[in-house]
Amino acid sequence: MLHGTRFVHSALWSKAYDRRYSLGGAAAAFNNNSTFAATAATARFGGPVGKAAVGFLVLGTAAAVSSGSGISGISGRVAPFCSTRGRSSATNTTTTAANTDSPASSHPSSSSSRGVSPSPSPMAMEVVRVPCLADNYVWLLREPSSGRTAVVDPAELHPVVSELERRGWSLDTILNTHHHWDHVGANEHLKRRFPGLQVVGPRADKDRIPGIDVQVGDGDSWQFGSLEVRVFDTPGHTRGHITFWVPQAGALFPGDTLFALGCGRLFEGSPRQMWSSLSKLLPLPDDTRVYCAHEYTAANARFAVTVDPTNTHLAERKARVDEARAKGEATVPSLLGEEKATNPFLRPGDSAIRQQMGMGPEAEDWQVFAAVRAAKDRF
Ligand SMILES: [Zn+2]
Ligand SMILES: [Zn+2]
Repeated sequence: MLHGTRFVHSALWSKAYDRRYSLGGAAAAFNNNSTFAATAATARFGGPVGKAAVGFLVLGTAAAVSSGSGISGISGRVAPFCSTRGRSSATNTTTTAANTDSPASSHPSSSSSRGVSPSPSPMAMEVVRVPCLADNYVWLLREPSSGRTAVVDPAELHPVVSELERRGWSLDTILNTHHHWDHVGANEHLKRRFPGLQVVGPRADKDRIPGIDVQVGDGDSWQFGSLEVRVFDTPGHTRGHITFWVPQAGALFPGDTLFALGCGRLFEGSPRQMWSSLSKLLPLPDDTRVYCAHEYTAANARFAVTVDPTNTHLAERKARVDEARAKGEATVPSLLGEEKATNPFLRPGDSAIRQQMGMGPEAEDWQVFAAVRAAKDRF
């Protein structure tokens, strides 16, 4: 009954948001040839290999290599309710979450890394992108030494299970960043499919996470095989939103808090709260890969250049993003360093952005962030 209540609640929420933010169809233009920006890659077949599985692990400086598997289980359902607009995503792709270049683009150096984590080691964790719905990215995580496998924000059952089966993997954990249905939609189905599977989610939103087993919050850490997964409370998009960080793998899973060149809409939080949440992520190393939950980058780039028109790094990144999207390629993950250098939602202290927003040096960072967020909402 409790679960039923939760689902009714979710359905009501999604109806409300669908009215406001329906995509008006979920046409997808996928390109099966999604090898992108890959420098010379050394790859090996990894893990238990199921039928037709091609478990690439990308080593060294390689960016990313397409699994070449095509798309599984694309849904034509209504827009995910975090969406305001959307395009397609790209094919499933495997990367290691290691200290490598961004698969989507090269990145300018940022001056703001304060390096609070140990150096990420290669091969620490395998990450597989599973496109779901219109523009969601669900992430499969594999810790090779233990064989433990997790999924971040499973929107749908079928694409996740298809990818697991293709690789011969089982699933032991769901990591949920927040309660929106396009992030928890497959929780209960996956729990039935994989007995013993545990759902790890935000303590602050435990009543809205279907099937939650392990509640985590700010400062907590959770062990994933040999890897420590650290948790930040990052409210703003929703009041209970959390972000997962795997420092040994240099991987960040910010859900709908931080996007490539953007940030989540403020459905349940204030601009000040969201700025505080984003500020927790800024000290993380520049080479942290940002595995956000949606392919919104092209639309975000169109907005970003209007508030930061003189940023040459941003202009170059926009060109790369537009080129990638024209070919149906994914632009996620990005590197935190390039977000610090080009994402206007992380740059409220920048004098050019302040000037563009008509704000001076006396404004607080959160006030500039609020102005940029409000401008995006109107864009
Ligand atoms: Zn979302
Ligand atoms: Zn959301």
